[in-house]
Amino acid sequence: MAIRLGLDPSVKNYAVYGNPVSHSKSPRIHRLFAEQFGIRLNYRAIEVPATDLAAYIDAFGAESGRGLNITLPFKQEAARLCATLSQRAVKADAVNTIRFDGRGHIHGDSTDGVGLINDLTLNRHIELGGRRILILGAGGAVRALLEPLCGQRPGAIVIANRTLARARELALRFSNPVDIKAMSYPELGHEKFDLIINGTSLSLAGEAPPLPPGILAANARCYDLMYAAAPTAFMRWALAQGAAEVADGLGMLIEQAAAGFYIWHGVKPETGAVLHALRRA
Ligand code: NAP
Repeated sequence: MAIRLGLDPSVKNYAVYGNPVSHSKSPRIHRLFAEQFGIRLNYRAIEVPATDLAAYIDAFGAESGRGLNITLPFKQEAARLCATLSQRAVKADAVNTIRFDGRGHIHGDSTDGVGLINDLTLNRHIELGGRRILILGAGGAVRALLEPLCGQRPGAIVIANRTLARARELALRFSNPVDIKAMSYPELGHEKFDLIINGTSLSLAGEAPPLPPGILAANARCYDLMYAAAPTAFMRWALAQGAAEVADGLGMLIEQAAAGFYIWHGVKPETGAVLHALRRA
């Protein structure tokens, strides 16, 4: 059965596809970006049935849709459905941004990693070069951030994950030129880190990763990819351990959206005011 999305042909149409997706902040973020440039657009959140991603992507292009964001659980599948991929989408093995060229060509990109780097370096002024970085988790989000993180030339990266084999696979895949090691959580006890990035999904359950005490170097920063109205369990752990700064992933979300906005519209939105508006909400 052909999918009909009912897009309004008189405006530029965009959407985020996910399941579930009603919680998504992307429609609000893109509308706020568009206001900065007087761009008239329609951006919707569309819940896609688990087995229907290909048909929904085709339908969006067929109705002259301009661009899609892709969120859980479809990012990897979306990478298989694009005709061409950016280099960073190939490395991430995932797509969170799709551009339709109007002639049937579907191009996929991955902006999650650059979103994190921009939040860390541009918004928070955290120097990553030469630093010892611990990454917790080895799922899709971590895979997407490793390539841009290595581009910042940190001194060392350690990936700790419950399933050690997945951390080992990522360490092998991304290790050159930065030294990346895989470790289990108990092995971390002899190490010190300048930055810890929580890329596990534990925060969703209100839990902190099983980290040993005393692994923060002086002036260490801790960043949770998840965002929430209140500090996550990982952020609370970091504060109790004496972290110099803790942050959640709302800035990353807005920065990855800004990178996607640039892919679609060729202009870079100002992100500070949007972050402020979303925090207030
Ligand atoms: P994912 O692919 O499902 O990976 C989840 C990771 O969490 C895996 O490494 C998993 O370990 C680990 N984990 C789950 N339960 C655990 C437990 N009980 N103990 C220890 N480790 C556990 O998820 P994802 O897509 O990478 O997302 C991870 C987080 O990033 C989520 O909180 C998501 O909201 C956030 N995120 C934020 C942004 C943003 O823009 N701010 C963007 C993307 C993702 P195993 O390998 O052992 O299963």
